[in-house]
Amino acid sequence: MSRPPSVDQLARSLTPTGLPHPLAVEVARQAIADDAVEAVEERARHRLRRMLTPVINATGVLLHTNLGRAPMAHAMDAGYANLELDLTTGRRGSRQAAVGELLATACGAEAAMVVNNCASAALLGLAAMAPDGPIAVSRGELVEIGGAFRVPDVMAQSGAALVEVGTTNRTRTADYRKAVDEAGVATVLKVHQSNYRIVGFTEEASIRQLAGLGVPVLADIGSGLLDAACPWLDGPPPSWLADEPAARQSLADGADLVMFSGDKLFGGPQAGIIAGSAELVRRCAKHPLARALRPGGLVLSALQETTLAYLRRDGDAIPFWRMVTRTTDELRARAEGMVEAVASGGVRPGAIRVVDTEAMPGGGTLPTVTFPSAGVGLDGDHTDALRHLDVPVIARVDDGATVLDLRTVDPDDDATVAEALRAALTGPGAGASGGAGAGS
Ligand SMILES: *Cc1c(COP(=O)(O)O)cnc(C)c1O
Repeated sequence: MSRPPSVDQLARSLTPTGLPHPLAVEVARQAIADDAVEAVEERARHRLRRMLTPVINATGVLLHTNLGRAPMAHAMDAGYANLELDLTTGRRGSRQAAVGELLATACGAEAAMVVNNCASAALLGLAAMAPDGPIAVSRGELVEIGGAFRVPDVMAQSGAALVEVGTTNRTRTADYRKAVDEAGVATVLKVHQSNYRIVGFTEEASIRQLAGLGVPVLADIGSGLLDAACPWLDGPPPSWLADEPAARQSLADGADLVMFSGDKLFGGPQAGIIAGSAELVRRCAKHPLARALRPGGLVLSALQETTLAYLRRDGDAIPFWRMVTRTTDELRARAEGMVEAVASGGVRPGAIRVVDTEAMPGGGTLPTVTFPSAGVGLDGDHTDALRHLDVPVIARVDDGATVLDLRTVDPDDDATVAEALRAALTGPGAGASGGAGAGS
């Protein structure tokens, strides 16, 4: 047996993988330490796998949190831009002005601004109102959204004193009224329950009712539906959106500020949008936290593009709404084409077929909603193999079969997916994983 290679030699042997030298050195050093020199290339591939890479989402979950929520079409150079320069006067401007004005128009608000995400928006909105006095929240809305966003904790971080009103299942306007009259509540926060539902013996106060209390009403609507009428769609709004709070209607009903995510139903980049009265938006913008929570130019330009699509009523330009409006007939036709393409390549008849599926909005929105969709099914669990391809395809397993929902797959990717399926069904190991659970 020859001596183990030097770290440098081994690292250099990894050059063809494309791994930058310092990373190749780390991988080589670890492989030698683990006495696993023969596996060094595989380890290099694993290392490359940990970097961000585009994937094909075949899960049918439109806003998949693990896959970056809303997909986006965005094309602007990351070169110089008039981020904080007013081109008409030549003076310093605000980075919030350009997109803020577009968003205000889109929501029907006096003003709007952008922060990093909805959690930042809620934090900033509450911090801006905290000096006025305690803030009331219904006990039914002291929710956890996920990723440790918990309303009571955000409230505490904002410096605002929390006054809980009502009960878990029923909170009336009178409960808020009492808090304003007797506990000195100066602001009311309404929080959308987003990722869970209380059903049965329930009652909540509407924004319109809260607006009659005489104190500012903040609404964290989270999911970011811009307008319940969905004027950017050709047809009527999808029925599953019926109970979803929308920014425009919340403001029209009397909310002084609404806060929502940019990358949920809005279909844009990760961002938090604060829209409402000019005075309160100015208060948020002037708060010292605003600087810490401000987005960069890349996010603002992407958000501008999404907002312009809404203003043009061009839902087709927003990938999320394109996915929503695909008909099941259209999806089934694509699935049939895919099955044909794969089956012609020496695959056992019946190993791949068109299936009806249920897609869902995801992203912590509309937890009880699914809508009909279609895709392809394969016997056995092939999710590992599909995930390990150069362009990873993320699928799910249902009843021992691999299911790919085409609603979340861009039609331009169909050929890539078909190729991936053929590889999964005919490649090495196809029989082994294909057999498992196939007959159950
Ligand atoms: C999703 C959500 C948040 C958090 O939004 P991020 O953009 O992920 O920070 C906050 N509040 C509500 C009601 C939500 O639905």
